[in-house]
Formats: sequence, structure tokens, C-alpha cells
Amino acid sequence: MIVAERKDIDEILQLLAPYKRVLVLGCGSCVTVCLTGGEKQAEELATLLNLAAKQKNLPLKVEFDCITRQCDREFIANLKGDLAGYDAVLSIACGVGVGFMSEQFPKVAILPGLNTTFYGANTAPGEWKEYCHGCGECVLAWTGGICPIARCSKSLINGTCGGTNDGKCEVKQEMDCAWYLIYKRLQELGRLNELSTFRPARNWSKDRSRGVRRLSHAELAQEPEQEEAHS
Ligand code: SF4
Ligand code: SF4
Repeated sequence: MIVAERKDIDEILQLLAPYKRVLVLGCGSCVTVCLTGGEKQAEELATLLNLAAKQKNLPLKVEFDCITRQCDREFIANLKGDLAGYDAVLSIACGVGVGFMSEQFPKVAILPGLNTTFYGANTAPGEWKEYCHGCGECVLAWTGGICPIARCSKSLINGTCGGTNDGKCEVKQEMDCAWYLIYKRLQELGRLNELSTFRPARNWSKDRSRGVRRLSHAELAQEPEQEEAHS
């Protein structure tokens, strides 16, 4: 899932400074699961902001709502009327939701209430950990399921750098070296020989360095008028 953290209240108040009526809009998907952007958090944030506004004597009134997904036209299609009367929307979806909402509602100020951090898994109660960086060319088949792009500080894909020390990363010493973990995993699986296999240079153009990436399923293509933005 996409993992995100809420911005600091003072930063949010700065973002909202030009506005008087604000809707905090939650998203019922990833950010609900990681307990930062769901309906409950939207209500809590609206309450916090109203309290802060009262304490600081600011002319700010905040309400809240939550929809199933802010990154899906199907779920934002009916929002247009609901946004009337607000000067701004503080989205507590991930950056995808904020970006998509901004595109679909170009005349409305859509502001980010979260900092989107990584693609991660829930590894313990209240804890999420990064597992993937969305690189576009997955190598997990030959790294024992451990991602060297996301989990090595230098995103090395040809083995450890010279700085690994007792299985720890030289950049972040409390962190296991990703390539040490990969070596151990392949050793356990009896597949260490795979590390000697020659692999052609990686195609980094599938990563984000060349701008926006897209996925298209031609069989699901929509008529052009259904692609139009809401105003
Ligand atoms: S190799 Fe790429 S796609 Fe695979 S887990 Fe790592 S970042 Fe994600
Ligand atoms: S010590 Fe390991 S995890 Fe850290 S940068 Fe070097 S190879 Fe990557």
C-alpha cells in the first residue's frame, strides 16, 4: 500500500492561511489502512484545526468528509456539488489523490495534508515498512524477494558496496545491509549460484527519471468526453 504521514499542524495552518471555509477530505483506501488519511483521521484533523483556529483567533471553519478513493474518477465524480461553498480542500489522500483531484477540479484549491512516503507493508501493530520503490523493472525473482532499490541506501543492483559492516549499512548503521540480506536469503534457499549469473545493464528508463509513466489497457479505453475534467 501507499504509506503517508500527516503534516505538522502548524504547516497545515500555514497552507490554509488564505482560506476561511475548508473541507478536510479523507480517502478510504491505503491511507485509511495506515491510519493517517481515513474518515476518523479527517474528523480528528478538522477538530484539531478548528481548535487551533479558535486559539489563534483565525477566521477558519473546517468541516470533514471522506470518499472511497481520491485516485479514481468513479469515486470523485459526484464531489463537484459537495465542494461548492468551500474555499479549499485539504486532501488527506496520498500525493496521487491530491494530484488527481487537482487535475479534475482545476478551479478548486486542493492542498496536501499528508506527506506521502513509500510503498510499504504493515509489519507489526502500528508499524509500516518500505518494500518497493516502484522502479518499473522488478528484480525480486533473483534477489530472494528483497528489493535492492528500496532497501539499499544506494539502490545498488549488483551486490553490496564496500561499506557494509557486520551486515549493517554504512549509510544508516541501524539498518541491515540490503545485499547482506539478499545473500543470506539466497544462501538459505540454496540459490547463491544465481548471484553469478550475468545480467545485462538495467533499463533505468522504466524508473521515474523520464517523467510521468502510464499504464494502458486498450480494451478498457473510454470515449474522449468521459476524460474531461470537472470545473
Ligand atoms: S525491484 Fe523495483 S518493482 Fe521490484 S520491489 Fe524493487 S522497486 Fe519495486
Ligand atoms: S552497505 Fe549495503 S545497504 Fe548500505 S549502501 Fe552499501 S550495499 Fe547498500
